[in-house]
Amino acid sequence: MVRVYLDRDADLSILRDEVIAIIGYGSQGRNQALNLRDSGLRVIIGCRPGRSQKLAEEDGFKVYPIDEASERGTIIYMLIPDMAHREVYEKHVKDRLSEGKALCFSHGFSIHYKQVIPPPFVDVIMVAPKGPGPIVREAYLNGSGVPALIAVQQDYSGKAKEKALAIAKGIGATRVGVLETTFKDETESDLIGEQTVLVGGLMELIKKGFEVLVEEGYPPELAYFEACNEAKLIIDLIYRSGLTGMLRAVSDTAKYGGLAVGPKIIDEHVKENMRAAARRVKDGSFAEEWIQEYESGGENLERLMRELEDHPLEVVGKKIRRMAGLER
Ligand code: NDP
Ligand code: MG
Repeated sequence: MVRVYLDRDADLSILRDEVIAIIGYGSQGRNQALNLRDSGLRVIIGCRPGRSQKLAEEDGFKVYPIDEASERGTIIYMLIPDMAHREVYEKHVKDRLSEGKALCFSHGFSIHYKQVIPPPFVDVIMVAPKGPGPIVREAYLNGSGVPALIAVQQDYSGKAKEKALAIAKGIGATRVGVLETTFKDETESDLIGEQTVLVGGLMELIKKGFEVLVEEGYPPELAYFEACNEAKLIIDLIYRSGLTGMLRAVSDTAKYGGLAVGPKIIDEHVKENMRAAARRVKDGSFAEEWIQEYESGGENLERLMRELEDHPLEVVGKKIRRMAGLER
């Protein structure tokens, strides 16, 4: 069993003399910054001019250009998109790092795939909430939290892990549970999970299930309810009570059909595809492909998005969600 860290295992007072410079004020940046401030920690924001900068000022933070925030901060917390880390680090952060400062991340991509190569005289730590930024905030305000992973890549100060745990406490994660991992394991498992299950797998399952229903002659509206809308209700049951709990809540026919036919759908061949995706994450070829795509302007990504927007599932889904008042 891996150890689960809770509030009593983390000490906010070790951050008493630290200034946390949050770089970026987006999904994670804003919500973690608000939680850390409400936990009594010293937080400043580093932003480029524009929307984020205005929002951070409206929220009452001291906001600086990224260079200056990196200069003033003792913990530089990189909360901009992973693909922007390399350039922002090289241009604005690197030369402001001095002995004993810490670089902190919420995902290990840029460190693990060597987009950012920190000097030896800083701590390199991770606090990775396992949920979207707005939920990190909402849970904190409700007295709870979103679980998180922590990791230490480099421990110069001898206190790197304590710092990571304290930040995890500051965002509310130790209220529910924090696990220790490595940058490598967090990065790889995150990518493998999102490709095979959470984003890639689920999306294709829903899409192909919808396509088969329509090909078999059922109206797209019915196919949408069946393959997409109801998926949320099933996931909610799994989230609350596990796979067996979900099976206890569906009909006996669904229970038997699911158990007997499911493995014939998601079969060994699908698992072999998942293993292939895992290999490409672990040998770095997926990262290389994505960095190349990003740096050459992201045309393929845009094309894939456009194609999906035109898919009948998306067209009928939009209509139905509008009717139901879920979407404008
Ligand atoms: P966002 O896309 O929400 O970050 C947007 C912020 O980054 C904005 O403040 C934006 O500024 C700024 N920004 C974007 N590009 C640049 C740039 N080139 N130079 C300067 N600032 C820039 O990021 P996330 O919060 O989604 O992700 C932050 C980190 O957290 C990532 O490492 C991610 O992997 C990790 N993470 C994210 C999760 C999530 O649910 N979103 C979950 C767990 C981890 P502006 O407004 O000026 O454009
Ligand atoms: Mg992910």
